[in-house]
Amino acid sequence: MSEHDAETLAGMIEAMGYERTNESEKADLVVLHTCCVREKAESKVLTRIGILKRLKEKNSSFILAVGGCMTQQKSVAKYIKQSFKGVDIIFGTHNIHRFPELLEEVKHRRHAVLEVWDEPDGVRETLPVARSDKTKAYVNIIYGCNNFCTYCIVPYVRGRERSRSVESISEEVKGLLDQGYKDVMLLGQNVNSYGKTLEDRPDFSDLLTHLDTLGDYRLRYMTSHPRDFSGRLIESIANSNNVCEQFHLPLQSGSNNIIKKMHRGYTKESYLEMVDKIYQEFTEPVLTTDIIVGFPGETDEDFEDTLDVVRKARYDLAYTFLYSPREGTPAATMDDQVPQEVKMERFNRLLALQNQISLEKNQAMVGKEYEVLVEGTSKTSDKILTGRTRGGKVINFAGEPSDVRQLRMVEVVGARTWSLQGKIRQGE
Ligand code: SF4
Repeated sequence: MSEHDAETLAGMIEAMGYERTNESEKADLVVLHTCCVREKAESKVLTRIGILKRLKEKNSSFILAVGGCMTQQKSVAKYIKQSFKGVDIIFGTHNIHRFPELLEEVKHRRHAVLEVWDEPDGVRETLPVARSDKTKAYVNIIYGCNNFCTYCIVPYVRGRERSRSVESISEEVKGLLDQGYKDVMLLGQNVNSYGKTLEDRPDFSDLLTHLDTLGDYRLRYMTSHPRDFSGRLIESIANSNNVCEQFHLPLQSGSNNIIKKMHRGYTKESYLEMVDKIYQEFTEPVLTTDIIVGFPGETDEDFEDTLDVVRKARYDLAYTFLYSPREGTPAATMDDQVPQEVKMERFNRLLALQNQISLEKNQAMVGKEYEVLVEGTSKTSDKILTGRTRGGKVINFAGEPSDVRQLRMVEVVGARTWSLQGKIRQGE
């Protein structure tokens, strides 16, 4: 989501006549677009501000802006304003569209501005976007989140759910296909909640069914909430041509006690039932998840439940995190925080189990052929290509630079935990 917001910021800034540079020393403007989901990212931003503000010494017209989720927290925005005199513009998530005006104000009046809105004022449809990739594109379908999982800061910095209309999403996707994009990722904090704020209340299945008719391409979405992932949705995906067999279903914990404390709204049993349905409906679905280890109150028994789900769901990949408290969330003040060494020990056990499963699943692909969308060449050689299967698995293989952005049939000849090696089909 933040990555796509950054593309929108870049689009607006380019529309003002600025050009990109990868060297901050040459820049007249640097915008730090921030994330606050994890504390480590926040401290990195503060270090970066400290370094970048020195550029003013060499270039008196240099402008430094900081925006995004981190500065949407008013206390953080105020702290940055007071502590870092070199920051010229501070803005939040709800007023990104105002960035050109804030920039003009700073340029002409030469004083710093801080503007953070409490609420969004609807959905902005027509902002320019400078996309960073020529093959894959992100499309927002729903903004904000109503769930308030007890560990998560997102609803506080992204506001309540609001969906874009089917028509405007459809127009954007059509435009992307006309430009030659082959892979579209629909974005939302909870895509399964799509449509609830719209008058005729289309749901996410309706949207996918409609978008499936627009052409021949790969259609993905992120992120799904396991509570809202319905049997109807599984059927719509199975009946579509373009929606990929890639399922990212954040488990967070396999223990019913912890799932409840997290305020997630499903159970271990309902989650596994949904996973079963997916395995029944698709021959080779790719399943991924997010897991938090060491949520407050997590006992050994709770953690064993998480391992049990991991063994049963057999994820292709799991994004695993040690729980770290985020100020402003209910979980941060829960008094049964798990000691760091216990978290680490559990985390390592989870990682070992998941790595073993990831490797086994990749090894099971060896000898089979997959349709691969070639995304680019390797950093070391333009004869080594990298692409993804429909399930989103990364595969590297020898080929020509002219294969980039094309679909190729590739046989898997080697498997590692994180990637696959392939061989392009003769005559492709
Ligand atoms: S559904 Fe996702 S974004 Fe929303 S509160 Fe829960 S974890 Fe955060």
